[in-house]
Amino acid sequence: MDIKELDKKYVAGTYNRFPVEIVSGKGSVVCDVNGREYIDMGSGIGVTSFGIADEEWVKAVTAQLAAVQHTSNLYYTEPCARLAEILCSRTGMKKVFFSNSGAEANECAIKAARKYAAEKKGSEYYKIVTLENSFHGRTLTTLAATGQDKFHTLFNPLTPGFLHIPANDTDILRAMLDKEKIAGVMIECIQGEGGVNPLDAAFVKEIETCCREKDIIFIVDEVQTGNGRSGRLYSYMNFGVAPDVVSTAKGLGGGLPLGATLLGEKVESILGFGDHGSTFGGNPVSCAGAINVISRINEGLLAEIREKSKYIMDELSGCPGIESVTGMGLMIGIKTQKPAAEVVRECMEHNVLCLTAKDKVRLLPALNIPMELVAKAVSVIREAAGK
Ligand SMILES: *Cc1c(COP(=O)(O)O)cnc(C)c1O
Repeated sequence: MDIKELDKKYVAGTYNRFPVEIVSGKGSVVCDVNGREYIDMGSGIGVTSFGIADEEWVKAVTAQLAAVQHTSNLYYTEPCARLAEILCSRTGMKKVFFSNSGAEANECAIKAARKYAAEKKGSEYYKIVTLENSFHGRTLTTLAATGQDKFHTLFNPLTPGFLHIPANDTDILRAMLDKEKIAGVMIECIQGEGGVNPLDAAFVKEIETCCREKDIIFIVDEVQTGNGRSGRLYSYMNFGVAPDVVSTAKGLGGGLPLGATLLGEKVESILGFGDHGSTFGGNPVSCAGAINVISRINEGLLAEIREKSKYIMDELSGCPGIESVTGMGLMIGIKTQKPAAEVVRECMEHNVLCLTAKDKVRLLPALNIPMELVAKAVSVIREAAGK
């Protein structure tokens, strides 16, 4: 049986995979089982931050792999402690809880907000406000946080206590925070799965202001937008705000599972012994990969990300068949006249792998994708959208 059939027969049918079996690659070029090469404009949904089989990253990971691959959190390991220090010193946050995925990073953020509110105001202050069209994960709690009903049907009852409000409406935000007993507000500064939509800066600022006024925990979900993706280390840095909690995952480990919940001053001590935990969280191999990733996201790389972003947006905006281009950094959504899936399929026929987000074509290439590959991919996308 070939791999596609084997997969269809034995792997749970949750993914509508493209008919491509990837076996190797280098940087932003991936190679399928037939030896066909593609420009990778998706980087495993924003995960392989420096592309496939990046030499420096592989070296960092394999050195740790050969030393100690896992210890459990009963013991100290160097990569975990060092990564936490780097994340705190680069953000001003105070402490980090490590997990294995974006959903788990958000679960921890929600627990931190609820415990803070319960201790400070009383356990009836448990509600979390999130936005319509948001995406926060697939566990029953992060599904409840996700403001898209299509993910909820047939999985009810979800964790109670989540309220969804429209993005960019400060009146509704204020009214909600006045009326309800709220522990936290959680947003993506750029809604990823929702269609690559940056929030209005004034709205993000207003959330921060309201949260400060009312002593509500301000959580930014940086699972997709984080780790250089937006052209700053974390996307909130584009908005001039300082969240109380930041969750991240995807690109952090560079291709290994790793989630992190960064806790600011207000909540730095909120999680004590036994309050939370994870068997694999902070795994030394994942953390060694993440140290390599984060250490390479410097001002020079971030400037290049912003330049490539501008190039892609300028080259695609206003082209035949393209209605709009949104996003920030190397996180770009393209609204095409043709269905996005059709454009993605055509791009694939011309050896360019793209993603979709709702009704848009979505690009999340590796942070170090060479300019010549960007240019090639952009011309293929333009052609596919305009045909
Ligand atoms: C992908 C994503 C998640 C979920 O991450 P998993 O690692 O799949 O659990 C949560 N929030 C946002 C914004 C995401 O893009």
